Amino acid sequence: MSGKFKAFEAYQQNSSYNLLPFRFITLDTHRYILTNIAGEYIVVSKNELQDFTRKQLTSQNPLYNELKSRHFLYDEESDIALELLAIKYRTKQSYLVNFTGLHIFVVTLRCDHSCPYCQVSRQSEDKTAFDMTGEMADKGIDILFQSPSHTLKVEFQGGESLLNFELIKYIVEQVETRNQAVGKDIEFVIATNLSPLTDEILDFCLEHRIFISTSLDGLEELHNKNRPKRANDSYARLISGVERVRSKLGPHSVSALMTTTRESLKYPREIVDEYLRQGFKSIFLRSISPYGFAVKTASSTGYQMKEWLDFYKEVLTYILEINRAGVYFVEEYTALILKKMLTPYPTGYVDLQSPSGIGISVIVFNYDSDVYASDESRMLAEMNDKTFRLGNLLTNSYQQIFTSDILLDTIYETMLEGMPGCTDCAFLPYCGSDPVYHHSTQGDTIGHKPTSGFCQKNMSIMKYLIKLMEDEPKVRQIFESWL
Ligand code: SF4
Repeated sequence: MSGKFKAFEAYQQNSSYNLLPFRFITLDTHRYILTNIAGEYIVVSKNELQDFTRKQLTSQNPLYNELKSRHFLYDEESDIALELLAIKYRTKQSYLVNFTGLHIFVVTLRCDHSCPYCQVSRQSEDKTAFDMTGEMADKGIDILFQSPSHTLKVEFQGGESLLNFELIKYIVEQVETRNQAVGKDIEFVIATNLSPLTDEILDFCLEHRIFISTSLDGLEELHNKNRPKRANDSYARLISGVERVRSKLGPHSVSALMTTTRESLKYPREIVDEYLRQGFKSIFLRSISPYGFAVKTASSTGYQMKEWLDFYKEVLTYILEINRAGVYFVEEYTALILKKMLTPYPTGYVDLQSPSGIGISVIVFNYDSDVYASDESRMLAEMNDKTFRLGNLLTNSYQQIFTSDILLDTIYETMLEGMPGCTDCAFLPYCGSDPVYHHSTQGDTIGHKPTSGFCQKNMSIMKYLIKLMEDEPKVRQIFESWL
């Protein structure tokens, strides 16, 4: 036989199996990641990928059974393979059935801090013109109760939300009263810097089982620099607030978000150590959002996505070290992606949905009665870009808001399955579309994915997580423990 040709058997197909739809991408020089619509993934070598797609795998090959059990191929024995795949896909998309669960009330735009990266404009504490009124709150509650979702989350945001605590009290009491007739499962969250915390507020939170979400950016000096306050005591007030919340409401009643500024990039380990020292079991790493006020201060606080990704990897490496040493500690954004990779369930996280979760997973009632499709949409509005304004609490009905052209068009345009750049991407089952980000940074809701910071962030993280799990089984065990 000529050296140009392989043996005859090499060209024979094992026609007894068929391929199910899948996407693939290189993991490194010799491995490929394959994913399917149910979010299953498998890593194979180039030769294995070729054998698989040329139908040259034999049923004795262990890879054959692995591909079969994860719905990459089916044969005459797998008579319900397609139905199973459909069930898994349906489960992954089940969040769509519930429609809008998260309702954000921006009860005031006033704030006692002046953070340079804040995404909404800051107003001094005495300007009640920037408070939501009771009438607006009533209309928001009307809309809340028209949601088909049985599970609802009511989140209070600002500004500093506790500066309008009277309205928070009013909304919680009204919602609870009205809920007696319908019996929905309702959770309340106050997003606050904890600076205005009082015993009265704590008593109310205890009585109504309200969860606290706060922000801790790291060590005292870094936190105070990121979150300036007249008395330079943001950190001290936060730490004492966290202690008071825990002792009154319980150890798991408060969580914290961390916003990364250029200064933060210098302290990956120190920031995690601070979270551990303060008794947190997790951290949520956030890059600065390109909306609202943050754009004005980007030259002093901003950085390239590549720098943030290096920071993220350093933090995650350190967190894995901590977990290997037996201390449970989670990075929350990683955990959201892992939930999509390693479990059959969706996350409900707005930025990782297809179609986009704006409006259909979250709705925002702004302090001035305008209704926005997401928190980022109202931040954009503070820069006079009201593209994602869906209507107004005082003048529009539920139907008018949720069938507004901007919402319907955005949902139609943000199905990743038909989106340029995403449709063939192996990470599609784990990713989402962020129309507000792409509108803000690239001028249209779909965006150009090869130059999108959102795409760069998610693609890098997803590939990195799979590589970590493939290269070290212990890492996969740690990640599974996070879920
Ligand atoms: S945004 Fe990027 S990583 Fe996400 S699905 Fe689209 S191409 Fe893939």
